[in-house]
Amino acid sequence: MQTGSSTPAFSEAPKEPLQPRRIAVFGSTGSIGTQTLDVIRDNPNLFVASILTAHSNAKLLIEQAILHRPHTVVIVEEQGYADVREALQPLGIAVLSGAAALEEAAGHPGYDLMLAAIVGFAGLKPTLQAITTRRPIALANKETLVVAGDIVMQRAVEGRVPIIPVDSEHSAIFQCLVGETYNRIEKIILTASGGPFFGKKPNFLVNVRKEHALQHPNWNMGAKITIDSATLMNKGLEMIEARWLFNLEPSRIQVVIHPQSIIHSMVQFEDGSIKAQMGLPDMKLPIQYALAYPQRIPNRFPRFDFKRSSTLNFEPPDIRTFQNLALASEAMFKGGNAPAVLNAANEIAVFGFLRNRLGFLDMTDMIERTMAHVPYIEQPTLDDYFESDGEARNFAASLMNM
Ligand code: NDP
Ligand code: MG
Repeated sequence: MQTGSSTPAFSEAPKEPLQPRRIAVFGSTGSIGTQTLDVIRDNPNLFVASILTAHSNAKLLIEQAILHRPHTVVIVEEQGYADVREALQPLGIAVLSGAAALEEAAGHPGYDLMLAAIVGFAGLKPTLQAITTRRPIALANKETLVVAGDIVMQRAVEGRVPIIPVDSEHSAIFQCLVGETYNRIEKIILTASGGPFFGKKPNFLVNVRKEHALQHPNWNMGAKITIDSATLMNKGLEMIEARWLFNLEPSRIQVVIHPQSIIHSMVQFEDGSIKAQMGLPDMKLPIQYALAYPQRIPNRFPRFDFKRSSTLNFEPPDIRTFQNLALASEAMFKGGNAPAVLNAANEIAVFGFLRNRLGFLDMTDMIERTMAHVPYIEQPTLDDYFESDGEARNFAASLMNM
């Protein structure tokens, strides 16, 4: 029997010093990408940025590369290629451009972890390439799992490639599951802030302009996800993301509105016990967790203070008003290519709304009509997913004469 007061109540193996990790930041010029580079800059002994990619923002990509000195950068749009090459080649940085450049970079052996923060369907191919290259993925790009979650996860499992979520809700669930390998999940509870139009009704939403919708109360994010948060489509995409990430039956996934965004999500186990992960809403936290996993590293981010704010509210989502959430749930239960079609129609709808071509409630209508139009495929191949995506995009665009 052990005696003595020095025996800790809870003992852990001492922390191993982390080997510096080479991070490939896909979508480095976006909201998640720039915050990732902040985390890397704040931890120079732990992380280095070795690949950076942008779509068209050559100016910011150049600034980032001068600061971080990656070995490779990608500027997808060829318009920006000459400027980026002129600025970075003299520094010994390889500059790639064009449609296939993202996959080429994802196949490069010179990185240890991909931070997948491209927005939308465009993130799928490079992420699949990282799995083929057997590189762990810190996944922010939820659309990858919404479109082809079954294939992505199957390939990751077969290749033993860890996928660590960056999306705050999924990071919360992932953190709640540490140490619970053999325990069954009864359900997961995804929290949603409710977005800027929480409590509003259709007669208000019909007049909403993009300037209103782009003002999120708790999170500062890229334009597409901010609109998705306002329509609650973001939570619908997150249900599908969670389904694949945690291998759950759709019926085990619940959404609850929690306007303060302090509880980032919860897991309920089969004994009824519920674990929650909490903290102030700051994406740098799940980003840092994913980069350093399985370790936690210190930081100076502000802390939640129980002495200051004491009220946490919860209520069910209003799916009669926010019908995108109902549509996403329907797609999740239907399975097959339905989520891919939903996602493509939503990307076009958000694009149209951001260009004032579509009203706020028209987005739902466009998604619903596209889902009714594109033929259902029960067990799609990867090619089927790409075809369904293209078909849905074309049909949705035709609805607003794009
Ligand atoms: P942003 O719009 O801020 O950034 C998107 C990034 O992807 C930019 O680097 C952009 O390059 C690049 N990009 C855009 N289109 C393409 C394309 N067709 N091909 C290649 N690269 C492209 O998005 P966010 O950072 O907000 O979101 C990124 C992902 O993370 C999304 O899937 C989102 O759902 C998810 N996420 C985001 C959160 C957030 O807080 N922002 C929270 C949780 C998840 P360029 O700048 O040159 O256009
Ligand atoms: Mg989220």
